[in-house]
Amino acid sequence: MNPKETSIVKVAIDVPIDDFFDYQCEENVAFGQAVLVPFGSRKVIGIVVEIDSSTELEAHQIKKIIRVDDDILLNEELFKLFKFVSSYYHYPIGQTIHIAVPSNLKKTEKVLNKKSYIYEATDLLNKSAIDQISARKKNLIEIAKVIFKEKQTDEALKMISINWKKYVKELITLNFVREREYQKTKIIQKTTVLKLNQEQSEIYEKIIAAQGFEAFLIYGITGSGKTEVYMHLIEQYVKNNGQVLILVPEINLTPQLEDRFTSRFSNYLVISLHSQLTQKKRLENWEQAKNGKAQIIIGTRLSVFTPFKNLRAIIMDEEQDLSFKQHDKLRYHARDVAMMRAKLLNIPFIAGSATPSIEIWQRSVNENKLLLHKLSERAVKDATLPKINLIKDETNKENEGISEYVISAIKHHLDLRQQILIFINRRGYAPVLFCSSCGWYANCSRCSSKLVVHRSKQHLRCHHCDYQREIDTSCKVCGNVDLMSLGSGTQKVEERISKLFSKALVRRVDRDTIKTKASLDALYQDMSDKKIDILVGTQMLSKGHDFPNLSLVVVLDSDNALYSSDFRASERLFSQLVQVAGRAGRGSIPGEVVIQTNFPEHPLYQSVKNQDYESFASEEISLRKELNFPPFCFQAVLRAESKNKKNVKDFINHLYSMAKQINTEDVEVFHPVQPFLDRLKGFERYQIYFHSKNRSSLNKFLNVLKVEIHANKHLNRIKWNLDVDPVDF
Ligand code: ADP
Ligand code: ZN
Ligand code: ZN
Repeated sequence: MNPKETSIVKVAIDVPIDDFFDYQCEENVAFGQAVLVPFGSRKVIGIVVEIDSSTELEAHQIKKIIRVDDDILLNEELFKLFKFVSSYYHYPIGQTIHIAVPSNLKKTEKVLNKKSYIYEATDLLNKSAIDQISARKKNLIEIAKVIFKEKQTDEALKMISINWKKYVKELITLNFVREREYQKTKIIQKTTVLKLNQEQSEIYEKIIAAQGFEAFLIYGITGSGKTEVYMHLIEQYVKNNGQVLILVPEINLTPQLEDRFTSRFSNYLVISLHSQLTQKKRLENWEQAKNGKAQIIIGTRLSVFTPFKNLRAIIMDEEQDLSFKQHDKLRYHARDVAMMRAKLLNIPFIAGSATPSIEIWQRSVNENKLLLHKLSERAVKDATLPKINLIKDETNKENEGISEYVISAIKHHLDLRQQILIFINRRGYAPVLFCSSCGWYANCSRCSSKLVVHRSKQHLRCHHCDYQREIDTSCKVCGNVDLMSLGSGTQKVEERISKLFSKALVRRVDRDTIKTKASLDALYQDMSDKKIDILVGTQMLSKGHDFPNLSLVVVLDSDNALYSSDFRASERLFSQLVQVAGRAGRGSIPGEVVIQTNFPEHPLYQSVKNQDYESFASEEISLRKELNFPPFCFQAVLRAESKNKKNVKDFINHLYSMAKQINTEDVEVFHPVQPFLDRLKGFERYQIYFHSKNRSSLNKFLNVLKVEIHANKHLNRIKWNLDVDPVDF
């Protein structure tokens, strides 16, 4: 073979410049191939996006490709998608293309893969051996004890101490513990395939008949059998080497869900893609999706950008979930990207939810862009929706925030030997440390927010920037030593409930107690083994899980959302309450839900009580229409921040007048405002909203604005970003 002549290729590089870069190449390269190139003073991995192209650069300006790798990181289909995404969300094309490529494929030096280990006790490790370890070495003893009890994985030990490696090493040196590599394998029982009921089969038939791209919304109450419908569909799609992507919210991707799919599809490779996988595992799964070996891929938002060999459908469960929207860098919404991808691939898109987002509901019911299907009953025989009671909050000092009604309901369900969930969507002990004599409260020095009292770690913590300090013993202003912890978080509720029901097994579940999927898994195990009577937890528990013995759900302190300035707050509260209520009564024992509120008559609570999403949604839609809010307009926000308030204010005002001068009738430019949290991590923040009736006018407008900002060099000292279709206020 003759050596190839030198040619010019265009390469996508992970840098904030909205263009590709030209390089000279003397080897054969293919579209999508990884290459090592010089970039400035660095060497970086780029992706070839055009071969034999021309260049405007002079010959001496063009650098040579250093190395051509075997990996193909991009295909034409994804390239089209990325071009759309980059221009729609106004994010540089190179960074967009690189977003979903596993980082270990992009190492400029080749590295060794990390392995997983398991630790088990030797014969030398026993009770008396442990007793001989100096009592001062608490962590060492704890680790020795757990390994003695049962062999442990590295992941599990990590949960005990961040210095676990040091302790394990010591135990290995003492010959108490041995280490070996392990492969994660599970024994999965095969499940029987359920016969779809009437409603389910009608939906199934409609969707399976789709030719090419069609969008569907399955609106089905909690427990109505949506997942079962997905599984029947998947069964058809995976025939003849087809692949299906199932997008799920961050916290729903539990080992339970994976197991449910794995056991149902034991003849196919089921994989998951999410941020908690090790780098090695993520790469392995990504490759298997790419080469078509994995046919069922369950993933969180980023997996919408995974390369596939033969994708036949995209399913999105809990479509309304906020975790589908990315909040930094490329601020995409996985639902909209998924729909675009399905369109490009000409395959069906299927969304499911018990409380669809207002946007999607509007697009389904009123615009017919998604075909709506309803599941109106619980699928398990005899399981019914729980009864929801709204109880006026008549709490006082004596009962400490938990009303008599709630206390007696808990007693009743404990007597029935059933499990109880108490939902309070706030971590920590109390949200405010307050001085009643002068009104001072402990606030974060870096954010415009109050510090939360944490009892378990005995400190104050900022939930926005994680700043921590000791709990003040006296008021910083007047010296009063009698400070009050106002309001309740999960820790305070846990403390009270344990006091009130001293015989019950109480477990708290929030981001402070559950840090990994493995610990969540252990929790489910304890629930099903009945090692827990009462769970006190945040929204972490509100979704997607079956606890067949859970018959009472109590909701405390959910009124905050009613006063929020965010126009989506009520939509979120509704969805959250329905989700959490849906945890009760999934088995054959009827469920009960008690919502303790100051406003039992509020229309939102009334529609929750009647479990009437449709009337809630139509109210919400007419309100949005009146106010001209999404989905009746397209929205974008430009956010800016700086440590110096004057600088960012000048910047935003300057931008505002620039934006006002851009000649467009279609886009409304709002006056700059500060967001709810006007200072975050030491940065002062401002933002400008843009509204338009027309998506492409808004896009064009933002392009013009971007060019002008970049042209004004002095403006670029301020950090700013654009968020298209923002979901947080
Ligand atoms: P959803 O996804 O809507 O919350 P699931 O698909 O998880 O609902 O189903 C809820 C429960 O009903 C599960 O225990 C499931 O096994 C059961 N189920 C679903 N469909 C059927 C059916 N056709 N016949 C019997 N049980 C069903
Ligand atoms: Zn004071
Ligand atoms: Zn802070």
